[in-house]
Amino acid sequence: MPPFPVKIKIAAGNDTLAAEWSDGHASVYPYAYLRGRCPCAMCMDKQAGPPMPESPLPMFGKSRLALQKAELVGRYAVQLFWSDGHASGIYSFEYLRELCPCEVCAARAPAGSAG
Ligand SMILES: [Zn+2]
Ligand SMILES: [Zn+2]
Repeated sequence: MPPFPVKIKIAAGNDTLAAEWSDGHASVYPYAYLRGRCPCAMCMDKQAGPPMPESPLPMFGKSRLALQKAELVGRYAVQLFWSDGHASGIYSFEYLRELCPCEVCAARAPAGSAG
C-alpha cells in the first residue's frame, strides 16, 4: 500500500503546508510551490507556458495568496482551497508525495520506474 498522509496541517506563519505520512515521512510544501504544481486542468494549461515563480507569492488584492483549507477527498487525495477562490486542484496522495521537496525525495530520480 502506498503511503498516505496521516496528518495535514497548514502553517500559515510559514506559508507552508506540512504533511505527515503513514510511513513516517514528513513533508513541508511552500504555498507557491504547491500552487505552481496545481494539477487542475486550468493550471495544467498555464503550466505549458513559463513556470510560475516560486517566490515571492503572487498578490491577491491586498494580501498575498494563501492556502485557506486542505480537505481530504475520499481516501486518495487532498483538495486545496486558496484565498483567491481557486479550489479545483485535487492532489492525489501519490502526486503529493512525488512533489515532496525534501532532500531525501529530491535525491530520488523524479521519473523513477519504481512500482
Ligand atoms: Zn489549479
Ligand atoms: Zn520527502
